[in-house]
Amino acid sequence: MMSEKLLKGFNDQLKHEFDAANIYLAMAAYCNSEDLDGFANFFMVQAEEERFHAMKFFNFIDEIGERVVVSGLEDPNNSYDSVLDAFQSALDHEKKVTGQINNLMSIAMEEKNYAAVNFLNWFIDEQVEEEASFSALIAKIERVKDNPQGLYMLDEKLSQRTFTPPTGE
Ligand code: MG
Repeated sequence: MMSEKLLKGFNDQLKHEFDAANIYLAMAAYCNSEDLDGFANFFMVQAEEERFHAMKFFNFIDEIGERVVVSGLEDPNNSYDSVLDAFQSALDHEKKVTGQINNLMSIAMEEKNYAAVNFLNWFIDEQVEEEASFSALIAKIERVKDNPQGLYMLDEKLSQRTFTPPTGE
């Protein structure tokens, strides 16, 4: 059981996570166009993670016997000035998502919906990790952005990222 308000919030978040997947896919396309395939791979894997997040909302709503509503997606931004610009936009986006998750948590706590609180706790932790990983990469990109050799090495490193769904989910 879930209040109408919280259910709407959960269905909206399902859409937001798919929107995030598309945003990162657009960033991957930009990196590919700049011949930075490793950076593109990083964003492709990030897009997969976002689809995984979306499906966690889908499955939870269904599991508690409520109705999943799938909505259309927003047009993502497809133009960036640089890889640094893409990563800064990604961090801004993650901060926005953190706000959305925090807002859902406030409603769930207000309504004493402990199943929802427990479910959202995973996302609270996940957002801390997402913001930390983007911040760390931005710091690295800032250090090497005017050095093609450094950028190439970072690109090489990011080409190794793979998607591993968290265990026990
Ligand atoms: Mg997400």
